[in-house]
Amino acid sequence: MTSKVLTEFLENGLGNLKEKGLLNTIDVLDSANGPEITVAGKKMINLASNNYLGFATRPELIQATKEATDKYGAGAGAVRTINGTLDIHIELEKTIAEFKGTEAAIAFQSGFNCNMGAISAVMKKGDAILSDELNHASIIDGCRLSGAKIIRVKHQDMADLEAKAREATESGEYNKVMYITDGVFSMDGDIAKLPEIVEIAEKYNLITYVDDAHGSGVMGGGAGTVKHFGLQDKIDFQIGTLSKAIGVVGGYVAGSKLLVDWLKSQGRPFLFSTSLTPGAAAAAKEAFVLMHDHPEYVETLWDNAKYFKEELQKAGFDTGVSETPITPVILGDEAKTQEFSKKLIENGVYVKPIVFPTVPLGTGRVRAMPTAAHTKEMLDQAVAVFAKVGKEIGLI
Ligand code: PMP
Repeated sequence: MTSKVLTEFLENGLGNLKEKGLLNTIDVLDSANGPEITVAGKKMINLASNNYLGFATRPELIQATKEATDKYGAGAGAVRTINGTLDIHIELEKTIAEFKGTEAAIAFQSGFNCNMGAISAVMKKGDAILSDELNHASIIDGCRLSGAKIIRVKHQDMADLEAKAREATESGEYNKVMYITDGVFSMDGDIAKLPEIVEIAEKYNLITYVDDAHGSGVMGGGAGTVKHFGLQDKIDFQIGTLSKAIGVVGGYVAGSKLLVDWLKSQGRPFLFSTSLTPGAAAAAKEAFVLMHDHPEYVETLWDNAKYFKEELQKAGFDTGVSETPITPVILGDEAKTQEFSKKLIENGVYVKPIVFPTVPLGTGRVRAMPTAAHTKEMLDQAVAVFAKVGKEIGLI
């Protein structure tokens, strides 16, 4: 039996969300998450995934998963420190470190819990974290968990960052001060101004933390935003996920050996949550090898992204400030955003509405993600549908 107080809370809450157009509808795919998907038997062009390089369905990754599953079983059996560390986990971490150009790396079970664990392992009560206001939810939660003072910095505003960095360090109030930013901002697609950030960080002795979930496998030939700017030896934490361009699941921190040793003893999800499945670890490692040996995946992603964005712009759409494959079409109003997405889906293009709390209220958008696996024909077809529906709802 459900308690009355809980039932009331849930019914009121859900009613409220529905009224505001903020209730999530979750579609079930009955196909793989590729450039085309089927939802309830209907085939569509898929522009909603983070599967940037198309690796989620690559035969090489599937084969690696099968072989590792045959050898090690379906699950790792325990947390890493007890007896859940398999040689395949270590191989994955070595491969990541080599690819990122760092001394070491440590894998977590997701990008989300990586941020929760990594931030809170290093930042404590008595410290301060300067955090870009558009940082991902997992960064926000990791900051809260740490107990450090959180100081929001205006989005990509270097003057605001410098002023707050000066104030935090000169006040003498804090033991350590960290600056955290997404490498590529997930909802707008703009790139963190890392060269300026590094300059400010050096001036005020800030610890630097870049969550490159959307930059890894995309920027810097796949090695990420830090590599793109050639700043590998200037950034303390390079975070990545294994769930987007890598096509599997998991997250990681790449950094110094000292940092990784600390996280292996102090990163709570590492210590208290069962490690990545053998199949996931093996497939993720294979993805790094594939990306290294075949630069054409990343090149095709950028070709497709440029083509798609230009075609959408020619059709009259505003794709915002994005400098990366992330392609937002911002409508503002939440209800209109829902309607736009609904009609795109009805017309065979799968793009989901992104509304509060994922983005601030009044900045609803659909976010299209062209990948390396799309063909030009698929992208042309998608643009034609965008144009048709955009006209129907008076957007263009
Ligand atoms: N950081 C950022 C910037 C992200 O966009 C995401 C994914 N939504 C995550 C972390 C979480 O990654 P994962 O899906 O691997 O948990």
